[in-house]
Amino acid sequence: MVARVIDGKVIAETVKNRVAAEAAEFQRVTGITATLAAVLIGDDPASQVYVRNKERACHKAGLRSVLHRLPADISRMELMDLIAKLNQDPSVHGILVQLPLPKHLDSAMVLDAVSPVKDVDGFHPQNVGLMLQGRPRFLPCTPHGVMEMLKYEQVATVGAHAVVIGRSDIVGKPMAALLMQKGADATVTVCHSRTRDIAAITRQADILIAAVGIPRFVTGDMIRPGAVVIDVGINRDGDTLVGDVDYESAFQTASAMTPVPGGVGPMTIAMLLQNTLLAAMQSVKA
Ligand code: NAD
Repeated sequence: MVARVIDGKVIAETVKNRVAAEAAEFQRVTGITATLAAVLIGDDPASQVYVRNKERACHKAGLRSVLHRLPADISRMELMDLIAKLNQDPSVHGILVQLPLPKHLDSAMVLDAVSPVKDVDGFHPQNVGLMLQGRPRFLPCTPHGVMEMLKYEQVATVGAHAVVIGRSDIVGKPMAALLMQKGADATVTVCHSRTRDIAAITRQADILIAAVGIPRFVTGDMIRPGAVVIDVGINRDGDTLVGDVDYESAFQTASAMTPVPGGVGPMTIAMLLQNTLLAAMQSVKA
């Protein structure tokens, strides 16, 4: 079997076009331009690229984005002051603090400081709780993007065995939660760094989602023939980006799979735009 490629760029484009149309209509009716404030601390090259891509996507969809660049040695107090200002600024609807943060800053404390109604990344504990209860305010962008891809590709999740590799707060945990939610109705197994005989588990997956952060971790022999494979990983290998799945061997076994780049990455950005528009709409209703 040779896999069908799930083209994240095409699916992301349809989401972004929908957001652009809705944002234009929202602006026509209310006079409000949905606005994202991005906070970039330090000069991590990957973070710079991510933030630039997010800003570009905002502008293309008719959303406003305002970038706050801060030096790597910014104090906790100064950062908290900026977040408090953005929380109070009615012209800002979404706030994104680009991770990772410099070591002297406690990510949990910083992310908790973002107002939950502007938390377009969906990382605030209040939003995590609402998501877990199946009444989300903002869904976290990467797992939400994966769910959108599965829907677009008409991958049946109901009753399917979905295996998620990784248990991070950003990807693995919320991914598992969304897959098991009523409506998606998958049976979910989560594997992590302490899981025994991981291949025996991944080979049972109808849908396999890799969010490990180890280049080419999942090889073809770990995949059940015909499974759908979603590769969340973005790893640098010299000058190229590679996923957590060994594309060549997986391609021979899976029925459908996402490439890296051009798979989950573009979806993450598309869902961020969707959340920013949603935040702007909710600010009017509030
Ligand atoms: P993380 O490092 O926080 O988590 C990795 C997880 O993998 C951990 O829960 C760990 O238990 C598990 N793990 C590590 N070694 C393992 C092993 N040997 N066997 C089984 N499990 C193991 O990473 P993250 O933030 O969840 O990101 C995962 C990957 O996804 C990274 O490559 C990251 O760059 C990428 N990512 C991509 C997007 C996107 O938009 N496409 C967004 C976020 C993260």
